[in-house]
Amino acid sequence: MTGRLSVVGLGPGAAALTAPAATAALAQADDVVGYGPYVARVPERPGQQRHASDNREELDRARLALALAAAGRKVAVVSSGDAGVFAMASAVFEALDGGPPAWAALEIEVIPGISAMIAVAARLGAPLGNDFCVLSLSDNLKPWAVVERRLALAAEGGFVLAFYNPISRARPWQLGAAFDIVRQHRPPSTPVVFAAAVSRPDETILITDLGSADPAAADMRTLVLIGCEGTRLIPRADGPPWLYTARRVAPP
Ligand code: SAH
Repeated sequence: MTGRLSVVGLGPGAAALTAPAATAALAQADDVVGYGPYVARVPERPGQQRHASDNREELDRARLALALAAAGRKVAVVSSGDAGVFAMASAVFEALDGGPPAWAALEIEVIPGISAMIAVAARLGAPLGNDFCVLSLSDNLKPWAVVERRLALAAEGGFVLAFYNPISRARPWQLGAAFDIVRQHRPPSTPVVFAAAVSRPDETILITDLGSADPAAADMRTLVLIGCEGTRLIPRADGPPWLYTARRVAPP
């Protein structure tokens, strides 16, 4: 019996936004490995073993998954959104890189998922319709000075900005600092969106502007989007305005 490791993105929350390929891999898995709340999203199947772990144990979790696959089991490692976006896929390859030689022979597949930015953008209209830049504000694994530098360059470069991991109990001030950096490059009227738990029952969307954006509006389930010069609002008769970024960019 040969094992297999599937690295599966579950999508942003709603079952309808999970790819059929992901659902098929989960249905075949002997073992499901991941952060507790994500494992909980996988439909239970008799005989399937579930290995739910804490949020910060990515590398241990990846090694466990590889070891189970090397022992001949069909293993699914799950992440929310896309597994390759600030999630488990890179942890799996970090573990593989320099791991036991037997792991190099394993069958591994990465199944794409709808990342939060894609789900959020679709809710709003088309804010990512032109060049954009995606950053994780988490400084758990990278120095804050690097975040600041990348952010300043992206803000200066005129990209629409999407922030993953904007805030947490351990990182309470970073989002405010990030807004201050962007304010040096963009006018107060720039649209800012706090989109939380998109496609889940507790979804909330707040559309505001850079002048009044309050970091307290974000939590761990929130993606923060900051528009660029070409980002516009279209009022809607019922419901929040549409947000889109124009395709045409003015010469510098
Ligand atoms: N791999 C995931 C991202 C994991 S990092 C993906 O591709 O979406 C966790 C961060 O993702 C959260 O802090 C939040 O910024 C964002 N996020 C995840 N799911 C979300 C959702 N349903 N709505 C809004 N943001 C979400």
